[in-house]
Parts: sequence; C-alpha cells; structure tokens
Amino acid sequence: MPHSNDLGLRSFIEVAPNSDFPIQNLPYGVFSARDGTAPRVGVAIGDYVLDLWELGQDGRLGVSQLDVFAAPMLNPFMALGPKVWSRTRARISELLRHDNPELRDNAASRDRALVPMANVTLHLPLAVSGYTDFYSSREHATNVGVMFRGKDNALQPNWLHMPIGYNGRASTVVVSGTKVRRPRGQLKPPSAELPSFAPCKRLDFELEMGVVVGQPSPIGEMLTEKQAEEMIFGFVILNDWSARDIQQWEYVPLGPFQAKAFATSISPWIVTREALEPFRVHGPVQDPTPLPYLQQAQPNNYDLQLDVGLRAPSIRQAANICRTNFKYMYWSSVQQLMHHASSGCAMNVGDLLGSGTISGPDKHQRGSLLEISWNGTEPIELSGGVKRTFLEDGDSLVMRGWCQGDGYRVGFGEVEGTIVAAE
Ligand code: CA
Repeated sequence: MPHSNDLGLRSFIEVAPNSDFPIQNLPYGVFSARDGTAPRVGVAIGDYVLDLWELGQDGRLGVSQLDVFAAPMLNPFMALGPKVWSRTRARISELLRHDNPELRDNAASRDRALVPMANVTLHLPLAVSGYTDFYSSREHATNVGVMFRGKDNALQPNWLHMPIGYNGRASTVVVSGTKVRRPRGQLKPPSAELPSFAPCKRLDFELEMGVVVGQPSPIGEMLTEKQAEEMIFGFVILNDWSARDIQQWEYVPLGPFQAKAFATSISPWIVTREALEPFRVHGPVQDPTPLPYLQQAQPNNYDLQLDVGLRAPSIRQAANICRTNFKYMYWSSVQQLMHHASSGCAMNVGDLLGSGTISGPDKHQRGSLLEISWNGTEPIELSGGVKRTFLEDGDSLVMRGWCQGDGYRVGFGEVEGTIVAAE
C-alpha cells in the first residue's frame, strides 16, 4: 500500500495548494447539511465534505459497523481502535485518488457522498468525556512566572519534572463559531479591600492544541509510550479562554476553577495522528532527564505552525498578534498522557487534553494576551490607533494551524470565537 503522504498523491477533486484539506490530510468532523441531513461523520477534502455514511452504503468503505458514521459524534468510530482508524483512512485515500475510477467516474455516488462545504454546518466533533488542561510550554510558564514571581523564581520547582495540569470542565467545550459570553466572577484587585462579583475585566485567550483520546485505559494501569501514542486519535486547535482577574483571586491553593470553566473552543476538524506523521520532530532537550515513566524513545513533537488573529469590531481585518509553533512544547502530548495515567487514572474515549498555552522564544510568539500585553502594562496596537490589553466585547479571536508539506499543507481550519457582553 502506498504511504498516504507519497509525493504526487493527489485527488480527482481539485484542491488548491494552500487549502487545509488536501488528500494528505483527511480530517474527521461532524456536519449537517442545509438539506436537513442529521449531524453525522464526514471527512474534509478541498471544498467538500465526504459523507461517510452515504459513501459506505454500497459496502465500498469496508467498515462493517457503518452506524458509527451516522452518529452525531466521533466517539463510536474512535472506540473501534487504531487498526480500524488506519484502514478506514487508507481506504478513503484510495477512493479519492486521481487515478482511481471507483468514485471519480460514478456520478450518482459522487453526488450523494460529496457535500459542498459551503452548504454544511459543522458541529462539535466529539462528545467530550473529560477535559484536562496542561501547562507544558517552558516559554509560557517562564513568562508568567517572571511576571508574578520575578526572574529568579520563574519556574516552580516541580515544572521540569512533570507535565503540570488540572482537571477542567468538559461541559463547556464548544465548537468554533460559538459566541463566548464574558464571565462574571469574584474580583479582588490588589487595591480593593474586599472582593466584588462583577463581569471579568481581564478576559484572555490561550493558544493551545487539543489531543483527542480515542481509546480507553483501565483504572489502576500505567501507560507505556507506545500505548499512550496509540490511544491518540488526533488533534484540534484549542482556545482555553481565561478570566485573568477571576483566576488571580481564586487560584490559591487549588488552581484555576471558574476562571477557565465558562468556555473552551475547539476547531471542528480532528486531524488524525497519522496525517501528522511526516511532521514529527524532536522537542526541546529535557534536562534534567525525566523519571523513567516519562521517558520517550521517539520524537513526539510536531512542526505545526500556529497563527492568532484579533478582530476588533471597528476593524475589518483581523490583526495578527501571534505566530508560533507547536514544536516548542517542552512536554509532548504522549508524555502528558503517560503522566495522566501514571497514578492509575482511567482514560476514556473522548477525553480531551489541552497542551497548555503555546508560546515560543520570540516576543511575537506569545500565545496569550497576558504575555503579549505583559499583564496589561504594554497595550498592543491592532490598527488605526485601536489598542488592546485584554479582550473587549465584540472582539473576535481566530486561531489557525497547519503543517507545511512539499506542495501541500495539512491544516486544521480555524477556531473562532466572538466575545459577547456579560448579561
Ligand atoms: Ca490553558
């Protein structure tokens, strides 16, 4: 079987070189069509969504449990396991190849199975079982540490020994395009004597990648590097919206709670681990060497470019406020998963792990407004004199991500969210 990222692999469907969805990608999502199709599983190819339930009707897909594609979430398909994921992906790739007449020359099947992207609504692609958020960018943790504790105590003593994380809320993970209401909470600026309950004044984003866990692990068992890797179904872009003023007052001593519980946005397409395979790179050297249960034998980072735009209501074009790369992460997704299970914590199909804010070494690579505006002390100018320290009502935040191949890109589309006023 040809490797799915063979040079020259192309589809009979016309795909622009800068499209996020060439045949090398084939990400999974959940869509409904304007004609009333109930939400079900599809694959993005160029400007189309491939309807897998329709495509499978004549047995062409080779998946015996076809019902998994009629579900309004990817969980049933993910539960079938990595061998089925891989086989299905290979078969879809084969059916979309330019030199395969099966679908290409069958107008009736093509019309049924290919839905123009412009005619679909994209939904949350999975039922999120649990949401855990990590804190794995050394640059981000250092920036935040310098801001609040000074240069000499920037990293907490535990940081270089394990991926730090907390258990977040699955109930408020939303798909791109969902409006985000400014949260209310307890605020106590340093100057105030007592807290008040009011709309957050320091609303922020955090640029992250989300890992979608596609296989369970039993309670009481640890994971090897290989087991952890094989549980990863794919990745999405994730915006971990954060209320900095609520966070500052509430986080002692148990960490973030309401400051991050009001919304987490993800991109609608899950890019599979397999599609990212050609873009695997080594992460930063880990010194001190992690404890044996966290050691990894292979490169588990990805060369994945990320870009954040901020559009204020008075500005037509989004201003780019960050350009960074997922490859900078100190702790890999595989290490996060190994650590997560290390106490015996069971993992479920549909668990979502946030990578932690992805910042890089340069100033323009900071993945949150907290860092970009240095805790509100250095406002940034978007355009035409419009300045920001934190997000205002009506602002839209757009994150994009892609891996650049030779003549194609494996992209994630975008995750967008617009802030609406507190009630
Ligand atoms: Ca976060």
